Order: sequence, then structure tokens, then C-alpha cells
Amino acid sequence: MASRFSDIVEEARLSARALLDFGEHIFSPAVRLGVTGLSRSGKTVFITALIHGLTRGGRFPVFEPFATGRIARARLEPQPDDAVPRFDYENHLHSLISERQWPNSTVDISELRLVIEYQRQNGADRTLTLDIVDYPGEWLLDLPLLNKSYEQWSRESLALSRERPRARLAMQWHAQLATLNALARENEQAALAGARLFTDYLRACRDERFAMSLLPPGRFLMPGNLAGSPALTFTPLDLPNEGVAPDGSLWAMMERRYEAYKDVVVRPFFRDHFARLDRQVVLVDALSAFNSGPEALVDLEAALEGILESFRIGRSTLLSSLFRPRIDRILFAATKADHLHHSSHDRLEAVLRRTVAKAVTRAADTGAEIDVVALAAVRATREAQVQRGRDKLPSILGTPAPGEIVNGEAFDGATEVATFPGDLPADPQQLFTGADAFRGLASATAETTDFRFLRFRPPQLESVGTEAPALPHIRLDRALQFLIGDRLQ
Ligand code: GDP
Repeated sequence: MASRFSDIVEEARLSARALLDFGEHIFSPAVRLGVTGLSRSGKTVFITALIHGLTRGGRFPVFEPFATGRIARARLEPQPDDAVPRFDYENHLHSLISERQWPNSTVDISELRLVIEYQRQNGADRTLTLDIVDYPGEWLLDLPLLNKSYEQWSRESLALSRERPRARLAMQWHAQLATLNALARENEQAALAGARLFTDYLRACRDERFAMSLLPPGRFLMPGNLAGSPALTFTPLDLPNEGVAPDGSLWAMMERRYEAYKDVVVRPFFRDHFARLDRQVVLVDALSAFNSGPEALVDLEAALEGILESFRIGRSTLLSSLFRPRIDRILFAATKADHLHHSSHDRLEAVLRRTVAKAVTRAADTGAEIDVVALAAVRATREAQVQRGRDKLPSILGTPAPGEIVNGEAFDGATEVATFPGDLPADPQQLFTGADAFRGLASATAETTDFRFLRFRPPQLESVGTEAPALPHIRLDRALQFLIGDRLQ
């Protein structure tokens, strides 16, 4: 596909942009930090906590330039990209602190600019511009589509939807699909109905009980401003093994829209946003996969492999890499570690390391440095030892969100409880061996699952005098040190 004219034009545009960015960087050092992860992985909370910590004096002992006092000030500046919405920091912070509610999650791309005034290790005063770009990880999973024909994508998606536990969730869509003939005349109503049922299937896979991750095309679940457009109104079809789509057929219509999806959605995203990033953090909600079961964990592994694949594709864009190095650091972060006792934090990190291991080996030629951390951008719990019979269990204390249910009891959002969420194994491999590795909601009831992570409300903060309270966190400073520490030397 590299020889396509549109690809060449695109690469030239990319290079022109890279040159512009490069020029800017010479005069004012800047880092574009991408924050991504599948929906509800914790992007909004991570960015809000990061900005709050940097601008309002968070507690970051492991973030060296901050801990040693070399950072004098960090302030927000107007968002520089006119066509991208601004990350709604102030409202998100208000929800977190004043309402003790989690902010609204990411549904589209957004961006914010932070300027950090610091002193170099040699004493000179400098500023670093940090542009934080928040975007759905689902979009990243679309990049491999650029190398796939409609026929290939259609066959792969259908095969996946016939596997357990997806097949059960795809029943209605499969029933409609069975009534369609790919060679028959194109039919808008069939396409609309199919796209709706296909999207319902993708959404059901994403549901808490199943927590599937690998669900391209990403915009079907995260349409941004394209909801309802023809570029999002197509589905896989049962296709003949050979031949090409006859003119005017349903097959040709789907193929055309699939190609339009790549042209109006996937390529521009890659060109205008992804290719301009310097650093990337990929947030991973491994705990949801534990809640759901081994299939969800294996699926998450495949999704992360897909995500890392995009970094490889990004690298191989020859012209653009002439001007400026692409992403040179990638951090995988398991979020919401505050749902576990600290004795399990290293184990959570080990599980994530194991989950991305295959992907990291395959992506060795990205040239990027890769690290893994288990963190909580906002710590909503405290720790306690709870006596159960003769044993003392390492438990966590928090206020479950209204409606959370434990042992048949629904919580009101005002009562604090101690829970024992389950112990992660010392050897992460145990979680991956066979479909019966552990029991999750996809195959068991809430009472018989091996892990149960409740949703807690954000913490109650106590302000000291007129100072805005710092948000408690776990290892957010370690993430910052890896992501930008070296740029503040
Ligand atoms: P996004 O879709 O990636 O933007 O995800 P959000 O940042 O909106 O997070 C989704 C949900 O995960 C939130 O509503 C919280 O319930 C939970 N969450 C995210 N980060 C944390 C965290 O650091 N600690 C805890 N306890 N929950 C979190």
C-alpha cells in the first residue's frame, strides 16, 4: 500500500508538519505526551491528577526535578491546536475534589498545554512545554486496518465473533447477517441495521462482565463527532472465498465504506495526532479483566499487542522519521492499584509486564524505551489488616460508589467498608494458563469469583489552611520520572 499516491502525499504533509514542530522545538523545548488506553482505563483521572500535582504542589518524592525543588512553577497555557477540544481540566477537578465523583470519561481527543519553569542541573533557568494529548486507545487499534483489505478484515472479525465468549453476544447480529447476500444489490437499510447490531455486539463484549478489549473499528464504540456517518455504517459480511465485489453489490458498498473509514478516520488521526507524539503512556485496567475472567485477560493481551503494533507502523514511516525521532518512550501503566493492598502492587506490575511481554518482543524495533508500572493516579482507599477467623487479611478501606453490591448489600455511597479483593499470584503466568486459570464474572457469580474489585468514590480530602489539598496517589511520580524526568535535567 506504501506506493499509493495518497500515502505519498500524506507522508509529505507529515514531514512538513514534523519540520515545523522541529523548528518550534529548537527555540522552545517541548514534549508531546500522548495519554491513551481503552475506555475507562483511567485516562481522564490520570491527566487531571497529573496536572493538579504539577501545578499545585503534589507529593512526588520519586519525580526528581520536583522533589529537589528544581521545578519553580508549572502553569496552564492556552491550548495550541485550534481544531482539537481542550481537555476540560477545571470541571474534572471540580468533580473529583468538590463533588467526590469521578469525572466524565474520555470519548474524543482533547489536549492541554502545561508550561514547566525549572532550573537545569547546571543552574540555568529554562522552560519545558508539555502538551498532553488524551485520546481513546480504541482508535489506536484501528491503525492495523490500514494494511488490511475489507475482505481480510471481514473474515477476521467474523472468525473472532464465532469464538467463546463472543459468539453468544453476537447471536442477534449473526442472525441478521445470515439473511444477507453479499452479491445482492446494495441496500442502505440492511447496512444501517447491520451496523447497529454489529455495534451492539461490540458494546456487549465491552460490558463489565466480559471486559473484552480487542474490538476494532474503534470509532464504532467511540464515534467522536462522526456518529451516524456512512463511514461508520458498514459491517463484516459472509463473503465468497474468491472473486471481487460486483459493481452495485452490498459487498461493494461495505468495501467502499470500509475504505472511507480508513481515509476519513484512521489516516488523519495517525497523521495529525499520533505521528506527532514524543512520549506515550498506555493505561491498562487489568483489574476489570480480573473481575471478568481469563478470556478477558487473554483478550487484553491481544489488544495491547495491537496497540504496540501501531508504534511499529508509526516508526516505519520513512520520510517523517528523517526530521524528528518519533515516540522514544512508552510507559504501560496498570491503573487503579489502590484497589489492591500494597503487598500486591509489585505483583500487579508483574502481571502487566507478562501481559505486554509478547508485544514488547515483537515491537523491539520501535527503538523506544519501554517500562511498566502499577499506579493509582488518585488513591481512593487506605489499608487495614482485618481479622478473619485466625487469619489477618491485608484489606483495603474505602467508600464504595452508590449502587455497588457486596454479599447482596447495595451501598449508598456514604458508608466506608473494609474489603479483601483477592490476592494476586506471585507467578503471573498462573493467570494465563488455560481457560480455568481463575474464575471471573464471565463464568461465575459475584460470590464465587476469585477477585472482586469494587468501585470506590474518590477520597475525602482535608485542606490545610487555604491551600488546595494534594491528591493522594500511588507511584504517579514514578510514571512522571520515566515520562519527562530526562527532559528536565
Ligand atoms: P477513561 O475512559 O480512560 O477516561 O477513564 P476514566 O479516567 O474516566 O476512569 C474510569 C473510571 O475508573 C473512573 O470513573 C473511576 O471509577 C475509575 N478510576 C480511574 N482512575 C482511578 C484511580 O486512580 N483510582 C480508583 N480507585 N479508581 C479510578
